[in-house]
Amino acid sequence: MLYLKSCPRCTGDINADSDTHGTFLKCLQCGFSKDLSPEMAARLFGGASTGRPIERTAYPDQNVA
Ligand SMILES: [Zn+2]
Repeated sequence: MLYLKSCPRCTGDINADSDTHGTFLKCLQCGFSKDLSPEMAARLFGGASTGRPIERTAYPDQNVA
């Protein structure tokens, strides 16, 4: 995905890409790059499956002897 004129350094064009380490932004003009957190990436890319909080009910006193 390409974000035109979004570079904070040179207002160049930012390309968003991802590899095995996660998602990152890179400027095509000056080489500026920035890693994105998974939730930031989800927000930018429309959110796949990470958009809702995980709620889990715990039973701490349930000890099975
Ligand atoms: Zn730039």
